[in-house]
Amino acid sequence: MDIVVSGIRSTGNLHLGNYIGAIRNFVKMQEENHCFFFIADYHSLTTHPTPADLYDSVKSVLVEFLACGLDPEKATLYIQSDVPEVAELYLLLNMNAYLGELERCTSFKEKIRTQPNNVNAGLLTYPTLMAADIIIHKAHKVPVGKDQEQHLEMTRTFAGRFNRMYHVDYFPEPVAYNFGEELVKIPGLDGSAKMSKSENENGAIFLTDPPEVIRKKVMRAVTDSGPTQHNQPKPLPVENIFLLMQAFSEPEKYTYFNDLYNRCEIRYGEMKKQLAEDIIAFTAPFREKIETLSGDTDYLGKVARMGAEKARESASKTIRDVREIIGFKGM
Ligand code: AMP
Repeated sequence: MDIVVSGIRSTGNLHLGNYIGAIRNFVKMQEENHCFFFIADYHSLTTHPTPADLYDSVKSVLVEFLACGLDPEKATLYIQSDVPEVAELYLLLNMNAYLGELERCTSFKEKIRTQPNNVNAGLLTYPTLMAADIIIHKAHKVPVGKDQEQHLEMTRTFAGRFNRMYHVDYFPEPVAYNFGEELVKIPGLDGSAKMSKSENENGAIFLTDPPEVIRKKVMRAVTDSGPTQHNQPKPLPVENIFLLMQAFSEPEKYTYFNDLYNRCEIRYGEMKKQLAEDIIAFTAPFREKIETLSGDTDYLGKVARMGAEKARESASKTIRDVREIIGFKGM
């Protein structure tokens, strides 16, 4: 049975990109694998949330995990900071992670560009913390979206380097996984290539967004004045709307609007109305469950404690082995 590990940062509510890129696959994978899914609250500290915001966002991601269909009886659902063994492995991996390779990481370069006043060491070492998260359970498969491909490659580098350095075959080299298909990237409504909560909230649709907010966001999505020649290639913002339609609408609707585009008869307003209604229908069941679960603090506490216990059992075994391999044997 494969060991599967993946996580979501607790920096806000889940958006459609998180669902399609990651959580939808978590739900499928929990049926036949040994799964660990966690809420990455250590990772979220790079943006310096207040204690109240940190707590609220961890809670809301847990609620949304459950609303999406993650089953705490089938998968181990836990909060990253409940498993301090992860922090120890992170420290140990940092000793063999090199400044050059961390600085070359695309997501780090992007952060330098977008938040030049807060380029902290946590951002630089994001890939070693992510590697620790994954290899702490000796994972084989990591269901993630396309944006995480490079981090996964670094995870394999750190796992392989550990094995070679200590002449062991201890950590598997995990792969980014999407059932044999290309990893997914859901675009933003603001013309950006990736829907993201941190970069532009208006470009993202959250599972918690009520219908009127979804309508407003979709109707405001960036487009252009329309094609002037038949079968013209689509500029990125327009391509994005089509990609979203591909993900959330019936295939016939996609074909209908695509044909109109190719004949220069497209009316984006009509297309967006359709897309908004399809996204509203897609997200409605999640919203309902989120509402029911949010008030059930006892149940949420029980889920988190059960997950922490199972995750620590697995993580502490790895840490015991790693300490032994490194040479921390006690006196
Ligand atoms: P994050 O919100 O950055 O913690 O990402 C959590 C998971 O959602 C990761 O597996 C990401 O690859 C995935 N993800 C985030 N944004 C997108 C997106 N726009 N399209 C597809 N997957 C995404």
